[in-house]
Amino acid sequence: MQYRSMSASDKPPTATNRVDIIVVGGGTAGTFAAATAANAGLDVVLLERKSKSEAGQIACGDAIKGKISFPNVIDLEYLKEESFSNQDIQRAIFRNPVENQSLEVAFDGHGTVLNRKRFGEVLLEEAVRAGTTVEYNTVVADVLQDDGEIMGVLGTQHGEPITYLADVTIDATGALSILQDKADFTDSTFDTNVRYSQFCSAYREIIEVPEPVEWDDAIVFKPTEELGYLWYFPRSATELNVGLGFQMTESPMKLVDVLQQELRSQPIFDGATVKNKLGASVPTRRPYDSAVAPGYIAVGDAAGHVNPSTGGGITGAAKGGYWAATQAIDAISNDDVSEVAFWRYNHKVMTTFGKRFAAIDLYNIWATGYDVATLAEIVASVPGQQLADAIGGSGIPAMGIWEKLKTLISTFGHWSELRELYQVRQLAHELSTHYAAYPTDRSGFEEWQTARDSIMDDFHAVCAAASKY
Ligand SMILES: Cc1cc2nc3c(=O)[nH]c(=O)nc-3n(C[C@H](O)[C@H](O)[C@H](O)COP(=O)(O)OP(=O)(O)OC[C@H]3O[C@@H](n4cnc5c(N)ncnc54)[C@H](O)[C@@H]3O)c2cc1C
Repeated sequence: MQYRSMSASDKPPTATNRVDIIVVGGGTAGTFAAATAANAGLDVVLLERKSKSEAGQIACGDAIKGKISFPNVIDLEYLKEESFSNQDIQRAIFRNPVENQSLEVAFDGHGTVLNRKRFGEVLLEEAVRAGTTVEYNTVVADVLQDDGEIMGVLGTQHGEPITYLADVTIDATGALSILQDKADFTDSTFDTNVRYSQFCSAYREIIEVPEPVEWDDAIVFKPTEELGYLWYFPRSATELNVGLGFQMTESPMKLVDVLQQELRSQPIFDGATVKNKLGASVPTRRPYDSAVAPGYIAVGDAAGHVNPSTGGGITGAAKGGYWAATQAIDAISNDDVSEVAFWRYNHKVMTTFGKRFAAIDLYNIWATGYDVATLAEIVASVPGQQLADAIGGSGIPAMGIWEKLKTLISTFGHWSELRELYQVRQLAHELSTHYAAYPTDRSGFEEWQTARDSIMDDFHAVCAAASKY
């Protein structure tokens, strides 16, 4: 059989390996996918571009909100013991620069801040324990495709050309996947409506402060000019993950300089030492409409499975990795790796966290129609819990009469924005309901997309923000 590499090299590859499943990328999504498939007895290789000593380290805020529900395919107790540094996060504090106000939201369950390197290392250890072969220093550069079906990947291993062939390739390469640049998805449903402007560029440092912070039970956010936010996430009272990001729709921000200025401006950071620095991008968009193609499934950041407002993607990556592998196992046993055979994976994602992320995305787009000063004023003028309710819960009607009157007075000048926000909330609800009705098989897909686009048209009729898709 003649495979087509999308950027065929003159030199033939030196080594060819055949397995059941190739997982590209050893982050959260890739390791959960690999462990799931290897547990089922399949021959799985995980290809990771980093060396063994660097693998596991990822630029991340390392925070997981509320009750953590990772798939039970690895030793979760071991993961917890080794890497859950601070399991006592009980609230989020949003520092609003206007009038130095803070908005505080209590969590339902306790959140966690991870030691991310150890977390990543344990996930890789667990994938190996399940039976996965992990190949480090392996950079995947291209896909092999035959008649639209992905048959494997090409790359280098310790600098030498390498080829892997498999029934299914799972793309877990994170944000801005090279595999998706190389593959030809013309005849598949795979979502190719992906642009840089749908991502956030972010940078973080792990710092040690001399005196314990008082808010080691909270994750703290502060808005930045470029529609992003600064965060302070405590791994302990003296070890903090601090970082910031900006939405790529906005003009680029000097992330390192802005973070330095912020740290210098606050006495609690006097004498702090930096233990690690890292930057990366993260998708802040709705989940891919379809993340499958013949022989190929994308998971985690590579499929946009991230909360577009907070940038939280660890839990979605773990679940998506597990669901993708479950579907791949079925497909291989039925000798059918078409996108129809993988469809249940799309359905599972969209009808669980996908519908929530798509709805949250509307607030994100709405916010791009305003500058941060206006948004901060709106936040300052509405009582904290009610603002949180207006977006996610019971809404302004939940307020008492005096509070309503006070809010009406303090929000004077922003009534049109608040009205818009109310309409956005209704459309977000409609969108979420539509995602919950994602087609159970491939046949209803285009009709579903058309109806979704019509909800987006209604949204753009009420708000000034530019179209994101
Ligand atoms: C700065 C920042 C802060 C964040 N904060 C949070 C947070 O507080 N909480 C939260 O839940 N989420 C957060 N996220 C998001 C979260 O980190 C991601 O959603 C999550 O890591 C996605 O996991 P993944 O496995 O899909 O991708 P990744 O974790 O990015 O893993 C991808 C892996 O693929 C490898 N790879 C890439 N290309 C290739 C290639 N060509 N060949 C071989 N290997 C390759 C990479 O080396 C990497 O190991 C943050 C993201 C950023 C950037």
